[in-house]
Amino acid sequence: MRGRCLCRAVAFEVDGPIQACVVCHCESCRRQCSAPMTAYIGVPGGQWRWLGKPPKIFNSSPGVERTFCEHCGTPLSFRSKNMSGVMHFFAAAMEEPETFAPTLHVAFEEKLPWLKLADGLPTRVGPDYTKDPG
Ligand SMILES: [Zn+2]
Ligand SMILES: [Zn+2]
Repeated sequence: MRGRCLCRAVAFEVDGPIQACVVCHCESCRRQCSAPMTAYIGVPGGQWRWLGKPPKIFNSSPGVERTFCEHCGTPLSFRSKNMSGVMHFFAAAMEEPETFAPTLHVAFEEKLPWLKLADGLPTRVGPDYTKDPG
């Protein structure tokens, strides 16, 4: 499975199957993507690679890497040491985003109040989808 930025300067490849697909409402993802919410897929280390030139990295907080294309600005991924270093690619950057349906909303306490959702998916406080609910 492959993904890319808008200008195609940065592309990446992911081995299947992915670990998870979740929608994140945290402020950091919201600001990085300039979008009310974003969906991303989790890919364990060693199961993905950049194709060609790697993207720029921005450290949004200690231990957190967020990447983007330096030419067109497309946000591509984030990775946190607190989440076992699993790579998270934004689902909308995948070549076939329709094949990645989210199963969970995380950081739901940060959801914008005017955003109304009716997908029936479970919600979770905080950003870590690997933790047990409650
Ligand atoms: Zn680009
Ligand atoms: Zn987030």
